[in-house]
Amino acid sequence: MAKWDFLTAELTSLEREGLVGHTRTVESAQGAWITVDGKRVLNLCANNYLGLANHTRLREAAHAAIERFGVGPAAVRSIVGTLSLHHELEQKLAAFKGVEATLTLQSGFNANLAVIPALVQEDDAIFSDELNHASIIDGCRLSRAQVIRYRHGDPDDLAAALKRTLGVRRRLVITDGVFSMDGDIAPLPQIVKVAAQSDAMVMVDDAHGEGVLGLGGRGISHHFGLLGQVDVEVGTLSKAFGVIGGYVAGRQILIDYLKQQARPYLFSSAATAADVAACIAAVELLQQSQEKVAQLWDNTRFFQERMRALGFDLGHTQTPITPVMVGDAQRARMFSAQLFSAGIFVQAVTFPTVPRDTARLRVMLSAAHTRQDLEFALETFTRIAQACQIIAAS
Ligand code: PMP
Repeated sequence: MAKWDFLTAELTSLEREGLVGHTRTVESAQGAWITVDGKRVLNLCANNYLGLANHTRLREAAHAAIERFGVGPAAVRSIVGTLSLHHELEQKLAAFKGVEATLTLQSGFNANLAVIPALVQEDDAIFSDELNHASIIDGCRLSRAQVIRYRHGDPDDLAAALKRTLGVRRRLVITDGVFSMDGDIAPLPQIVKVAAQSDAMVMVDDAHGEGVLGLGGRGISHHFGLLGQVDVEVGTLSKAFGVIGGYVAGRQILIDYLKQQARPYLFSSAATAADVAACIAAVELLQQSQEKVAQLWDNTRFFQERMRALGFDLGHTQTPITPVMVGDAQRARMFSAQLFSAGIFVQAVTFPTVPRDTARLRVMLSAAHTRQDLEFALETFTRIAQACQIIAAS
């Protein structure tokens, strides 16, 4: 057997189980309508919550930064990669979030890899919601701490796990703020309370709450009035903020420590000037106006109310993440393919990303969608879902 034959065997086995994904190619700028594989379609699967991914002010900021700083960072942050722009973004983000300080990284994924192993190690324990994001899971693995998974969104199960786990040095509770496949919000006030009883640190990954929840999109801590009570917030700049990058927000001492210890900060090159400048423009836009966040929620209420009235099962979402439950993976894929033919791009999400037999289409709503776009989506979803017997024909 040749040394690479195992890859053919692995891929064949994935193919047999129907688990091979085929990535489509986008040929236009991000927006409500995009060109995908040569076809103009309504975009219902981007994380572009506020429509900033192709916003004029962000583009102009990126162009200006390239003129002044060029394109490449040429180093990691701790050597010669830290630009005045990085400091400006970190200060503006801290003011926006209402925290002492932030540290920006190259992605939200890297932010989780940066902070978790810096806070806990072999002698410690992490309490992690069973549905937490892959980057949290990987950060936990890298830390070598003991990982205890508690039942999804269940503070009582968390409390019991904290009580049972004795003799560890430090404890860290981690939860997603908004769960990306179901759109439900973590019960953060109860989590904070339970963690305080065991003197555990609390960390929330607010990737899908940023720009969505709380006053003007300031995130889950604002949403629940928990400012100053969450020890570590992780965020991404790649969803509502429309660009790329991640950050950790919290006390100044935490950020000072991460600058000495966080491996993606120390060993991976800095985010580029263009990206950072565009992020600054995004934070400024959110500071100045709550209009886009309000539009996002308007669109969310309108679309979800109408979908439910039409007979669609949207699970227990509380946010613009809108799972349209189908169940069977093949049917979900067929539904997605037929919608694409009819001019709507929405991805099917199947096992192992979600549990078996809970396949769904994940509709992502955006402030960029017009009422007309959403009417088109409702009409097309209904027609195709009736033909596929996902909802009853009227
Ligand atoms: N955390 C959560 C909860 C996410 O949904 C994502 C994005 N899929 C990330 C972290 C990673 O963020 P990024 O895309 O900026 O790496």
